[in-house]
Amino acid sequence: MPSSEAWSEAANRLARELAARGIRDTRVLQRIATVPRQCFVPPELEDNAYFDGALGIGFGQTISQPYIVALMTEAAALKPQDRVLEIGTGSGYQAAILSGLCQSITSIERIEPLARAAEKRFRELGLKHIEVHVGDGTLGWPDGAPYDAILVTAGAPTAPEPLLEQLADGGRLVVPVGPEDAQSLLVYERHGEQVRSRKLCDCRFVKLIGRAGWKPEEFNEPPGSAERESSP
Ligand code: SAM
Repeated sequence: MPSSEAWSEAANRLARELAARGIRDTRVLQRIATVPRQCFVPPELEDNAYFDGALGIGFGQTISQPYIVALMTEAAALKPQDRVLEIGTGSGYQAAILSGLCQSITSIERIEPLARAAEKRFRELGLKHIEVHVGDGTLGWPDGAPYDAILVTAGAPTAPEPLLEQLADGGRLVVPVGPEDAQSLLVYERHGEQVRSRKLCDCRFVKLIGRAGWKPEEFNEPPGSAERESSP
């Protein structure tokens, strides 16, 4: 197993790569350099933890590519007092990156064993202020609404209406939207009753499955088909 210095050097190298790829927010780069991604991947994939790619985490799901995690975090434009909702806890890596940059995170995951494993990682790493719930995140989490930022880490056919409704005034929703094989990463910003959107890049995520996402009864997912996620 690599030494802690070797892991730390790998994380710093990844942060420099993401800066070279266009991530400008130094607070985000600092999180990439300090959150131990090797703790969020299956042990047999540890050696690949600091490659800029998505990796399988079981249940047909992935830990997102670091570049996409950094880009989504940067687009969320977080302030220290912000309250954030994340849809798709997965491994917990995205929430761990967010955790140093805002006041609190509510993260929703539909696959219970992934949610429980992520909670265990947060405890072991001493990451506080992250609350994990099992459920259909396409409906948001109304109890904590409104949120200053909402990040959706799975691909939706359209921006889920409940999430737009749970955005605070001035809030940002970052969400991949489009057909299942090619989406656009979009940022929606609420200003009063008006919502404006802009595109960050093309991307490909696993499906957001739920009442305001892809309906489970509308497709037959072959085993393992949801393993892939990439950016251009
Ligand atoms: N943010 C994760 C990370 O850092 O590891 C990556 C998430 S993975 C690309 C997408 C996750 O979204 C999967 O764990 C999947 O189970 C979850 N998901 C899909 N539809 C969901 C829904 N309606 N509600 C909550 N989670 C959902």
